[in-house]
Amino acid sequence: MAKKIIVIDAGHGAKDPGAVGPAGKKEKDFNLTMAIKVEAFLKDNPELKVILTRGTDVFLELKERVSIANKAGADAFVSIHANSSSNPDATGTETYYMRPTSKNLANTIHKHMVAATGLRDRGVAYGNFQVIRSTTMDAVLVEVGFISNAVEEATLFDNDFQNNVALAIAKGLCAHVGVPFTGPDTKPTPAPVTPKPAETAPYPTMEVIVGGQDFTGFSINNTTFVPSRPIGEMLGGKIGYTGGKVTINGAAVETVNINGIGHVPVRALTAALGARIFWDKKNPKRVDIFPKL
Ligand SMILES: [Zn+2]
Repeated sequence: MAKKIIVIDAGHGAKDPGAVGPAGKKEKDFNLTMAIKVEAFLKDNPELKVILTRGTDVFLELKERVSIANKAGADAFVSIHANSSSNPDATGTETYYMRPTSKNLANTIHKHMVAATGLRDRGVAYGNFQVIRSTTMDAVLVEVGFISNAVEEATLFDNDFQNNVALAIAKGLCAHVGVPFTGPDTKPTPAPVTPKPAETAPYPTMEVIVGGQDFTGFSINNTTFVPSRPIGEMLGGKIGYTGGKVTINGAAVETVNINGIGHVPVRALTAALGARIFWDKKNPKRVDIFPKL
């Protein structure tokens, strides 16, 4: 039996904080924490496949979020947000749908969610948001509460509150796609979540061109390290790996492992294999390597 596919979208991210509360809490962090918590309640369910549009503090365009859900052939999509208003007294929980076919999902999620938030019930509403307009499956956008309200801001970042609401959203999603919720029920699995930093290159990157092909190198203490195997083999060398070091034609050279790939100083490769290096003075982040003729 095919698994039901659920896409959970944490709104905003990275350079886009979303709304910021009076105490300085950022909506993007709330959204991400909630998405991860909902995922935790669903990910061991044998009848579900759960996809997060983002699991870290990264920036995604709206169309990328849509594309993730559409490409996955998702059965349900929920975008998680916190609301904001210029009126500091505005409060409550609200769920948006756009396409009529998504209204059932909105009603189901909202019913579960509003019982868990205990906040003012602002109801289900029509909202013309890109992520629920351009997706092709049942899709809703939830505004759990108002981060612009000082009391609600504190509530939104309360771990027990988050766990209860995440559980409710998870149960609402299960109910909608017709899959039994398999727990854990009372006790939330996810511990308080510290958003992981975005995955970035561990060192400044260098553009490395070998025979017209592009590779990514790294500048480490002013030495350019390049991926040993693809470039070494292009230069006609035999690349091996022994005792944590890359070998070029049998000789071990200084090695830095980056993302599981052995990188070596570009000069070690070119010296061993008789290639030439050209450093472009106008572009210090580029290195050209010319194989021995
Ligand atoms: Zn938002």
